[in-house]
Formats: sequence, structure tokens, C-alpha cells
Amino acid sequence: MDESTLFTKIIRGEIPSSKVAEGSDWYAFLDINPHRPGHTLVVPKEQAQRISELSVESRRSLLDGVVEVQRRLSIEFGTTDFSVNLNDGPLAGQEVPHVHFHIIPRIPEGTSRPIWTQTKESSEPDFAMLADLAERLQAH
Ligand code: 5GP
Repeated sequence: MDESTLFTKIIRGEIPSSKVAEGSDWYAFLDINPHRPGHTLVVPKEQAQRISELSVESRRSLLDGVVEVQRRLSIEFGTTDFSVNLNDGPLAGQEVPHVHFHIIPRIPEGTSRPIWTQTKESSEPDFAMLADLAERLQAH
């Protein structure tokens, strides 16, 4: 069997994460280096690098996870608009070789630029802020 990915270790609790929600086939947690507040990753519990490698069940339930995360983020951020992105392989910009959707709530910011063209700020993760937000999202 292949080596466990970073996200498999997070799903198993071997590496800590700020959990947002969980289903039988998927797990959602806050991105450690968010593009915007609320940036959440939704991953299948089945380990695969590309969506085409997932079982039909995992692939289908993953979208249920995306919608469940959107529901919680909607309550927290007061929006129904989201950037939903999946980098399906390294040439598409995938850094962690485990399928993951990025879900980013969009609120008015005085710009209509696509989020992925913007440079991510690289600063130390604010773990206290992430933990607080995750606790609220879990309660929604
Ligand atoms: P990719 O570039 O593969 O589409 O996205 C990988 C994402 O995983 C990045 O947005 C990055 O910030 C996030 N990430 C990397 N390592 C960790 C980690 O240890 N914990 C969490 N929560 N997110 C991570």
C-alpha cells in the first residue's frame, strides 16, 4: 500500500486539524494558510490523488461534503457565494497528492478578480483563530 498522505494523517488524527464537519466518506477542515477567512478543504477519506481514481461512492459523497460545508459557511459568513476549486494533479497546482476541494466563502470586497489569481499571503498560521472558527462552524 502507498504511503499515507498528509491529509490521510489528518483524517486519522495523527496530525491535528481544525475540523469543520465530517461524513462517512469525507472530512472537512480549515486550510492552515487561508486565501480568505473560512477557507475550508473537503477531502475523501479514501486516499487518491485524482478524482478519476476515486471510487464512485467517494466521488459522489464528496460533493455532499462540499454542500454541507457551504451550508455551515453560509451561516457564519452570511453569503451564498463561494469559490470552489480543485487542483486535479501537480500540473494543475496540486501540492498535496490527495483529492481536495477548496471552499472559500465570498463576500463583497470591492473587487471581482478571480481569487486564484491573487497571491496568497504567507504568514504563520493563526491556530487560535482557526480553532475558534472551527468550533463555531461545527455548531452550525
Ligand atoms: P493544493 O495546492 O494542493 O490545491 O492545496 C493544498 C492546501 O493544503 C493549501 O491551501 C495549503 O495551505 C493546505 N495545507 C498544507 N498543509 C496543511 C496542513 O498541515 N494543515 C492544513 N489544515 N492545511 C494544509
